[in-house]
Amino acid sequence: MSEAKLTTAQLQALDAAHHLHPFTDHKELGGRGTRIIERASGVYLWDSEGNKLLDGMAGLWCVNIGYGRRELADAAHRQMLELPYYNSFFQCTHPPAVELASAIAEQAPAHMQHVFFTGSGSEANDTVLRMVRRYWDLQGQPARKTVIGRINGYHGSTVAGASLGGMGVMHEQGDLPIPGIEHIAQPYWYGEGGDMAEDEFGLWAARQLEEKILQLGADKVAAFIAEPIQGAGGVIVPPATYWPEIQRIVDQYGILLIVDEVICGFGRTGEWFGSQYYNIRPDLMPIAKGMTSGYLPMGGVIVGDRVARALIDDGGEFFHGYTYSGHPVAAAVALENLRILRDEGIVDYARDQAAPYLQQKIAQLGEHPLVGQARGVGMLGALELVKNKATRERFPGKGAAGTLCRDLCVENGLVMRAVGDSMILSPPLVIQPQEIDELFDKAWRTLNRAAELLG
Ligand SMILES: *Cc1c(COP(=O)(O)O)cnc(C)c1O
Repeated sequence: MSEAKLTTAQLQALDAAHHLHPFTDHKELGGRGTRIIERASGVYLWDSEGNKLLDGMAGLWCVNIGYGRRELADAAHRQMLELPYYNSFFQCTHPPAVELASAIAEQAPAHMQHVFFTGSGSEANDTVLRMVRRYWDLQGQPARKTVIGRINGYHGSTVAGASLGGMGVMHEQGDLPIPGIEHIAQPYWYGEGGDMAEDEFGLWAARQLEEKILQLGADKVAAFIAEPIQGAGGVIVPPATYWPEIQRIVDQYGILLIVDEVICGFGRTGEWFGSQYYNIRPDLMPIAKGMTSGYLPMGGVIVGDRVARALIDDGGEFFHGYTYSGHPVAAAVALENLRILRDEGIVDYARDQAAPYLQQKIAQLGEHPLVGQARGVGMLGALELVKNKATRERFPGKGAAGTLCRDLCVENGLVMRAVGDSMILSPPLVIQPQEIDELFDKAWRTLNRAAELLG
């Protein structure tokens, strides 16, 4: 390899020649060339052309403490020299995995005191499916196999993750879902609520779960899985009536509740976990993303007492695990990330200062003529682009307006993601008020320009 730094054009050519990207139309990408992000600090990114971008997405919903924290690099460096790898199979463990499990248990709801480590959020959901089925086998109810998820839910991209999720385009390409997984409607009031009042629609959407349970037979249903707030589906905030009714239904029928905290966990809602924000009692919580603030890949499942006791007390061996379960370097980085979130009061800062201000600004963006609904919770937000605010009529071209707006955003120095025609925000939790002002100004200017172009 040559010593000279590759130019943008060289990197783009090599990228096109050798690199297959996740969730990408390569032919379209080939036409425009990839954007090369070279470095980052705080809430800002710099690309290979020297452009500075405000990262309104915290990478991919994960860089909760912001970029450039030397403490995490030091933790990784120290741990690599001390013990770069060892497994936690065969009656072994190592200090970082032990300390991390204990630190997570401290922040988790009181009835959730065990952690199973994975390499990612998708793997966490594979683990969940295995664990749920194992649990019911151990209860002597092996017919309880079916897991109910939601249309437009996202639980990752492995076979189990994509099956539990309800993304039609993913199902089509993989002959998914695998057997034993069913989907119900999502609590998406703005898009699907019709003439119902929001609270009424929330109850209706929750009761789809009860209907599905009755249709399948309660003795066939193992669990219900949902994100507290759907992330990849477009930051869909459920009506206030939704979660209490879901809790009633899972309690009444005795099925396990899996709350996918991969985005909502580690402060995103202003609480440590989205389950605490909504005051729900999960049996299992898949985690990843903010767990390490994305500095290294790692995920896990926080396991409630009901399932943990069954696995521990009468489980025998559970034939499941990953080479990198509890990887010591990732665990050391996660531990340092948790320490920073806690000691610097970042979750409290998000709840008490950043989130109220961000939500005020998101509501202000909702006044733009192009925005049909602005919504959000904590450090999550969405702006739905519509052609007609009053009738909620959308632009033609299914997502074309969102894509246009996303590209204009980047030109204006702001990263927002588009999900269909919804513009998504999920900035680092540490974003400062003046940076939120900057985000607002850039978003407003982008909306003005988009409105001009969309006519
Ligand atoms: C991102 C995400 C996943 C998948 O995590 P990966 O680390 O990409 O495998 C699972 N569930 C939710 C809710 C997510 O947002």
